Amino acid sequence: MTTETGEHGGAQRILSDPLSGREVIFAPSRTLRPGHFEARREPEATGEAEKCPFCEGREQQTPPELFALGAAKEREPDTPGWRVRVVPNLYPAFARQQVVVHTPTHIRSLADVSDEQLVLIAESWAEAAERAWAEGFDHLLAVINEGKASGASLSHSHSQLVWLEQAPPEVAAEAPRLRRDSCALCALLHDLDPALKLAERRLGDRTVSLAVAPTGRAPYELLIAPDDHQPDAFGSSELLGAALALAAEGVRRLNAVEGPSPFNIWLHNFQGDGHWHLELLPRLNTYAGIELGGGIFINTLLPEDAAARLREAPL
Ligand SMILES: [Zn+2]
Ligand SMILES: [Zn+2]
Ligand SMILES: [Zn+2]
Repeated sequence: MTTETGEHGGAQRILSDPLSGREVIFAPSRTLRPGHFEARREPEATGEAEKCPFCEGREQQTPPELFALGAAKEREPDTPGWRVRVVPNLYPAFARQQVVVHTPTHIRSLADVSDEQLVLIAESWAEAAERAWAEGFDHLLAVINEGKASGASLSHSHSQLVWLEQAPPEVAAEAPRLRRDSCALCALLHDLDPALKLAERRLGDRTVSLAVAPTGRAPYELLIAPDDHQPDAFGSSELLGAALALAAEGVRRLNAVEGPSPFNIWLHNFQGDGHWHLELLPRLNTYAGIELGGGIFINTLLPEDAAARLREAPL
């Protein structure tokens, strides 16, 4: 970390994100109070649930399903009676791009999906990964977008799965930094300022943690990861489900501080060596020329301030 004094005397914190190498400048704004951001998750539109193609009973409005979880054995495909449903994306940008419908009823946010259901969602990701590997693909990119500012088009809670022949650039860039013998994420979690840790879940002797990213590129950016070094999240749907439950808690805390907020979540998963994690990027601010053109991210909220607000949020 370097600290520089700006032209007007204010101290700036300049950091390099240890996972990505991304440069982040913390330039806290004194005027930045909770509720400062204008980006908001859209409220439910009139008639939205009645027209929603993801709701149970409208299975004919999506492409034919690939598989469903939680359904009775005698159920016919594309009929009611499922708990998680996986269908091809209607407007794919990739050869294989799928939508995981998270719930049969019209739930609009991951924040409102039950822990039990989140484990089923994790199972559906793992099932899709197995199918991808069987067809010779090497990477499954799983993302959750909520709110128009995040790129979501339908509001019924869902995730998107993209099958790729190799790891995408962001994952490929992280992989050399996350090798078992010198893993930047193991080090980050080991040395984490306790003030930044928001919650954890234990499954047997394994723990998954939710923390404010110490070098997040945006206000309230969150990081969710198993404490022990594991490359492949699809190997344990229970642990991945616990990670999704922590993500849902992160969204509830964020919403309690800032109001219903748009966000993206993605899984960074590794075939071979690496340390899987979820990144939760709130989309409260707009990226401008310095971020997109320079690759330098300016974060106006210090991680310790974000953590204090999120921890104290009334849930
Ligand atoms: Zn719906
Ligand atoms: Zn590690
Ligand atoms: Zn990552």
